[in-house]
Amino acid sequence: MSRLEIRIFGDPVLRQRAHEVEDFDGRLAKLAGDMFDTMRAAEGVGLAANQVGVLKRLFTWEVPQEDGDDLGGAVVNPTLLDASEEDLQDGEEGCLSFPGLFYPVQRPLRIEVGYQDLGGDHQKVQLEGYFARIWLHEMDHLNGILFVDHLAKHDKQEALRRIRDYRIEQGLDDPTPPKPGGLLLGRRPR
Ligand code: ZN
Repeated sequence: MSRLEIRIFGDPVLRQRAHEVEDFDGRLAKLAGDMFDTMRAAEGVGLAANQVGVLKRLFTWEVPQEDGDDLGGAVVNPTLLDASEEDLQDGEEGCLSFPGLFYPVQRPLRIEVGYQDLGGDHQKVQLEGYFARIWLHEMDHLNGILFVDHLAKHDKQEALRRIRDYRIEQGLDDPTPPKPGGLLLGRRPR
């Protein structure tokens, strides 16, 4: 198993729709294993294939439990079958593609999802609370949707500004040359 590079917001692959998985072979299992390693090393609870630059409808998730018997798995070709649109939950959400950023996101409290496991067998599951939040977040990734898309306007603007700063700090982007009277006006003091 090996760790993969996690793509940071700004990478176009995060905005693309991932393709249905058709081959349930050793390569898929290897990718899922590598994604587990990558997710654990980054201390995340979920990771979608887009986030490691692979446009396949696959995500991994894992929530540590106090008894050490962690809950998680690999989910292929998920479809949202039902969601409690009237019954919502509020909570903080983050994303490995937005390091260090957490914002409140409202999500349905309960969902039902159909999916395939790594062997290609069809499964169905009902999820509630934090688990529903994780799965909805990861299913969004497979459609090129990111958690910042669910934020209130002010939070979204701040998040995008902070991730731009992060990319520059990490050397992923060149700082934009300041233009007189222009871009600096919108920047927050740090
Ligand atoms: Zn994410």
